[in-house]
Amino acid sequence: MTDQCVFCEILRGDSPATFVHQDDTVVAFMDIQPISKGHILVVPREHAVLMSDVNETTAMRAFRVARELAAVVREKLGAGGVNLFVADGEIAFQDVPHFHVHVIPRYPNDGFSLTFPPDYNKPTSRAELEAIASAILS
Ligand SMILES: [Zn+2]
Repeated sequence: MTDQCVFCEILRGDSPATFVHQDDTVVAFMDIQPISKGHILVVPREHAVLMSDVNETTAMRAFRVARELAAVVREKLGAGGVNLFVADGEIAFQDVPHFHVHVIPRYPNDGFSLTFPPDYNKPTSRAELEAIASAILS
């Protein structure tokens, strides 16, 4: 745990949070700046910045709980869909340096959207896909 981490403060009980799940590995609480009604954060008890910094068991518990809560917000809040989102690293919009999974319930006209780069509609050549895959596999 670190002194500077707001999630660790919550886990220590030094900052308030509204919990919707707690077990020995992860907790889940309401986001104080929700993108939509019922926006939840699933947070491992262990402090680790990136998804790859937690062990597989902890990461899978976080995703399992996120999956369960996604079903709950559909049933209890009437969400029509759910986005699970991980901001893994600052360039990926990580704002709190403690790995977490966002559970973002979706409703008609909720104002949340994704912005794609200008070249998104331009198909990538098979050769380029093969080159990228080779880099991943090397
Ligand atoms: Zn932390």
